[in-house]
Amino acid sequence: MHYAETIVDLVGNTPLVKLNRVTDGTAATVLVKLEYLNPGGSAKDRIATRIIDAAEREGKLKTGGTIVEPTSGNTGVGLALVAQQRGYRCVFVLPDKVGEDKRNVLTAYGAEVVVTPTSVPPDHPESYYSVSDRLVSEIPGAFKPDQYSNPNGPLSHYETTGPEIWRDTDGLVTHFVAGVGTGGTITGTGRFLREQSDTVRIIGADPEGSVYSGGTGRPYLVEGVGEDFWPTAYDPSVPHEIIAVTDAEAFAMTRRLALEEGILVGGSSGMAVVAALQVAKDLPADAVVVVLLPDGGRGYLAKIFNDKWLRSYGFSNAPTGHTVANLLA
Ligand code: PMP
Repeated sequence: MHYAETIVDLVGNTPLVKLNRVTDGTAATVLVKLEYLNPGGSAKDRIATRIIDAAEREGKLKTGGTIVEPTSGNTGVGLALVAQQRGYRCVFVLPDKVGEDKRNVLTAYGAEVVVTPTSVPPDHPESYYSVSDRLVSEIPGAFKPDQYSNPNGPLSHYETTGPEIWRDTDGLVTHFVAGVGTGGTITGTGRFLREQSDTVRIIGADPEGSVYSGGTGRPYLVEGVGEDFWPTAYDPSVPHEIIAVTDAEAFAMTRRLALEEGILVGGSSGMAVVAALQVAKDLPADAVVVVLLPDGGRGYLAKIFNDKWLRSYGFSNAPTGHTVANLLA
């Protein structure tokens, strides 16, 4: 019989698949790594596993302990999944702008959710940050993973994502492209690949406006990537280059990936593919560009995949009939 002992054992070892249509005119091979095939639906399952393992080893998390983290997204799902399997309680602090569906996913896995007002400054006692700090100090046995500064985030990608890409491309990968959020993915994966090859190029994709590509931190709509500060999980010496991508480009590519490649992913995946194709267009046929796609598209059906929502932000001219064709026109 061939089976996994627990769901957590299925984290990682995600497949690579070649892009065939959106690459029109590109000689190089462009492969995407499908992180939505992790059990919790994103690359964050990897960091959750490594962060909890390390906290147990270091005695920061003990039987009956509670994980407290300000997170609304994929990291929460990863942590909730692993915590549930190991018998820890999870309390996530969410700003009230986070949609009900995202909240419900966390509670479905058994996590508790505390909702805080978005409209208060970070130092306000009711803010997202203040409330999570207070919970950590008040709950006995509380542990805060802090994905922005926890070295086990990048380390999980150094130990799993990087080696998987090297193995699955038989060492032929020439370029690695990933979006930058906490910076853990690009730092860990990029560092591993650079240690294997002197010539591999590591390219970060960043929403236009974010600090990584020289912006001021002004807002953008693509979720999970870009920052208005420099997290310590990010090592700026790892990427050779950072490419800024607009929301409009990212969302159009996200729609095309579903429509033309059968790959339903989130906006940060579309963003990474835009950057990758920009790099790939000038490369020879023997180049192998690997792009990491962090999560699936189901969490974005009411946004990126909803014409009305897109139009409300001015991304298209009232598409009708073959909506997407018009959208991309
Ligand atoms: N895309 C999505 C949807 C994410 O949730 C994240 C994590 N914040 C990223 C990309 C970026 O990954 P990292 O934090 O490792 O830079």
